[in-house]
Amino acid sequence: MNLMLFGAPGAGKGTQAKFLIEKYGIPQISTGDILRAAIADNTDMGMEAKKFMDEGKLVPDSTIIGIIKDRLAEDDCKKGFILDGFPRTLAQAQALDKLMADMEILLDKVISLDVPDELIVGRITGRRVCSKCGASFHVEFNPSKEENVCDYCGGELIIRKDDNAETVKSRLEAYHAQTAPLIDFYTDMGVFVELDGTKDVSEVTKDMIAAL
Ligand code: ADP
Ligand code: AMP
Repeated sequence: MNLMLFGAPGAGKGTQAKFLIEKYGIPQISTGDILRAAIADNTDMGMEAKKFMDEGKLVPDSTIIGIIKDRLAEDDCKKGFILDGFPRTLAQAQALDKLMADMEILLDKVISLDVPDELIVGRITGRRVCSKCGASFHVEFNPSKEENVCDYCGGELIIRKDDNAETVKSRLEAYHAQTAPLIDFYTDMGVFVELDGTKDVSEVTKDMIAAL
């Protein structure tokens, strides 16, 4: 199964990806996680991307498309994958289309989580992420069982550098200007399904499984 989770930053893509990984045994490919790992490793690509990420801007398409090309070629993607946070521009969507055509695979579904901007700010400022596995929690809406400890791997929960009210504004602007137009692209392809992302985490999971 080749899936894509779509939606604004903070819509709940990473949270729902965890359930899909377990249910279908396929990897989550989060370009955000890959970029954060490159920053932690101090690579040239990471250092270049960091400037854009800290400002809440999109990292250039050429970097992102290169990342995805390498990642989809890895063995664990043969059974399928869950794209999370990619594509975010029309150029990225077109590059993915070509890449998948070359690999002779199809995109089965794009699951979009619809959450209004007013709710996104609270979700992002209350987000805590695992420093080891990247799992996402929320201090109020989706707390970990033990404070600051990841339920999945026991890693320490931290606040992402870009998870502040100021950066959220630019990230939402980037989403509306550059990413939301992809809704038409995937609707025309006949694979786009929109879900109400404002429901509780478990309700969204149920709707998502039903849609698949
Ligand atoms: P994304 O991957 O789309 O950026 P996350 O999955 O990290 O978003 O979710 C953003 C924040 O919102 C996290 O703190 C997460 O715990 C919380 N969250 C996710 N889904 C829901 C939901 N259905 N209701 C309330 N909060 C949620
Ligand atoms: P995310 O973890 O998905 O919230 O992404 C965090 C940041 O990484 C974004 O604000 C962008 O700066 C960058 N980023 C992640 N994925 C992409 C992408 N597909 N295209 C451009 N920038 C991206």
